[in-house]
This record gives sequence, C-alpha cells and structure tokens, in this order.
Amino acid sequence: ADYVRLEDHTKQTSSSLHPDALDSRRSWQDAIPEGIEGLIGNTPLIKLKALSEATGCEILGKAEYLNGAGNSPKDRVALSMINLAEEEGLIKPNRGDTIYEGTVGSTGISLAAVCRARGYQAYICMPNDQASEKSELLLRLGATVERVKPASIVDQAQFVNMARKRAREHTENPNKPGKGFFADQFENSANYIAHQTSTGPEIYQQTGGQLDAFVAGAGTGGTISGVALALKPQLPNVKIVLADPQGSGLYNKVKYGVLFSPTEAEGTRRRHQVDSIVEGIGINRLTANFSAGMELIDDAVKVSDVQAMKMARWLVENEGLFLGASSAVNCVAAAELAKRMEPGSRIVTILCDPGSRHLSRFWKAAGELKPEECTFEGILGRD
Ligand code: PMP
Repeated sequence: ADYVRLEDHTKQTSSSLHPDALDSRRSWQDAIPEGIEGLIGNTPLIKLKALSEATGCEILGKAEYLNGAGNSPKDRVALSMINLAEEEGLIKPNRGDTIYEGTVGSTGISLAAVCRARGYQAYICMPNDQASEKSELLLRLGATVERVKPASIVDQAQFVNMARKRAREHTENPNKPGKGFFADQFENSANYIAHQTSTGPEIYQQTGGQLDAFVAGAGTGGTISGVALALKPQLPNVKIVLADPQGSGLYNKVKYGVLFSPTEAEGTRRRHQVDSIVEGIGINRLTANFSAGMELIDDAVKVSDVQAMKMARWLVENEGLFLGASSAVNCVAAAELAKRMEPGSRIVTILCDPGSRHLSRFWKAAGELKPEECTFEGILGRD
C-alpha cells in the first residue's frame, strides 16, 4: 500500500521535515485506510473564521478531534507507544498482554481502541472525579477501568503509580496469561516523538511553513514539546506558547523558571485534588515529555476555568464548534496572544477533543453561564 501510516512516518527523522517529505502521504479521499490505524494523523487544519475576525489575527485549529480511533491527539501517542513497545519486543499481540496506563481519559480511550485493533487488553487507572462519560466509554471499548481517589503523584495510590503497580503485578503473576506493560505516557518519549514526527510536520506542511505562533496546553507535555521540536529548527522565529489552566504550575516555570510560587500554592493544591473542571491539561511537576521541549517554549498564557467555559460557549455560537475544555483553553490563549501580536499574524492551536466527552462536568457548568456573559469581550476581560 502506498498509504504511509503513522507507524512508518514515526521512523523518519526530524531532518525530513521539508514538505516534500510528506508528499508520499495520501489523503483519505485517495486511499482506503487500513483499519482504524489508517484514520490516525493527517487531521485537517481549519481556519476559525469568527475567532480570526474577532482577534484580527488568523487563528487556525488543528482538528485533532477528527482522529478516528479515540477522537483526540492521543491516538497518535497510543499508536506510537504500542509500536515502540512491539519493536523493543516488550509486547506481542494475542497472547493476553495487557497495556496498563494512568490517564484522565483521552489516552485511555485511544489506547483501548488501538489495543482492541491490535490484539491487546487495556487496563486503565483514572481519578474517580473525572467526567463519567469517559469511564463509560472505556468500559464499552472493552478496557478494564480502575477509578482511584484523586491524589498527589507522591502517593502510591495516585492513578499513574497505580497503573505502574498493576502492570508489575500482572507480569509477576504466573497465573495470568501474557505480560503487563506500563505505557507511561508522562515519561515515555514515544509520546513527544509522535508529535515531533507527525503533528508538527503536518502543521508545517499545511501552513507551507507560514506561521507566527503555536499555542497548546500541556497534560503530559508531549504535544507542545513534540511540535516545538519539529517547528523550531525550521522556523526559528515561530513563537511557542503554553496555554496553562488555573492551578497548574507550568505557567510559572515558563515565565519565571520556578514550577510554582508560594502564592500559587492554593491553586496547586486545587489541581492535585482535580476539582478543576478543565480536564486533561495542567500539571505541577516536570514530566520527561514536557522537559523534552521546555527550552523551546517562549511564553505562557494563564487561562481561568471561567474564561474556558465562556470560550467553549462562544465557539458553539459563532463557529458551530462543540469542543472540550482543553480546546477552549487553547482558544482563549490564542486570542490573548493575538492581542500581543501584529495584526494579521497567523496562530496555530490544537482542537483536542469533542464536547460530548465533557457533558457532565465542564459543559454542565458552562451551560449554567448566562448568554450575555459569553461575549468575546467577556472572555478576555479577566473574571
Ligand atoms: N487535551 C486533552 C483532552 C487531553 O486529555 C490532553 C492530555 N491529557 C491534552 C489536551 C494535552 O496533551 P499533552 O498530554 O500532549 O500535553
């Protein structure tokens, strides 16, 4: 087949970022994708017409929610982590091998789908306060779901630590078939490499290298690091900007070099307890995936939960786009950044996942806002 899939593409080095390097790839219209893996990557870049008009900059959204396995950028990551583990001989299909992961949802959903397609089991540990539609979806995708109490990373019962422990228990149990493999999206370099070798080059190609800034939030940091590592060597002047939700420590790290200041302690605790309604982004530790591209991040924009909710509503009203919380955070940060840039600048951001995955928490709260609060001026004026 001359349809080059992500797994082949990830083997390319970042030196092959020139648009010509991607010419061999076909769009979905030209070839029949092979299974759900053929629907991962090659997502469209769309112009957000109303947001561009409101800001005076050209704001482009990489429609990652159109990835066809788990409907988020994590499809690329799930495929990349499984491919690497197979290459390293750590897992084999159809012998009971189980992929364990700690995730607030998106990575679990992508892993569950790709595991089913590849002949693996998925075992997902997640905090028990995340939107219930995500755990329901995981169960329907055939994953085993263990919901644990929200806890700090230093706690052994924290969701990531629990997944690592369950993988070890599996491998050590002679009565269980196959092996346990801890995917470890926070520390596994296959995560940012997926974005360095696919998301980033796609953005370069789709814009013809004509962009002034790239804006994204960080959950593991894989997206922002990978895209930064792909774009910066080709476009040294492109600004890489972190969109950081309230309660996350990364904003201070980018701005002031320290993960969080004492005055942020309240917000930091808040994020530990995961009672913020923005799910999927915002952390208060330095992961390997964030560290991989951290030096390339030029600036950061802080976004409150209320700003994100207002933006989510505004995007529905003005663009007809129904998206999740992290996408809304990204769009607020893109609009804030537009105020600081030359009119007409081109800003690319990520549209991460669909709103339907956030109905019971983020969208429930967003739905309670009054329409008159959700104006463009109301979003950018700090609450
Ligand atoms: N949006 C959503 C919905 C997510 O689940 C995540 C990752 N947890 C992100 C954005 C952030 O991506 P990354 O992990 O690459 O930083």
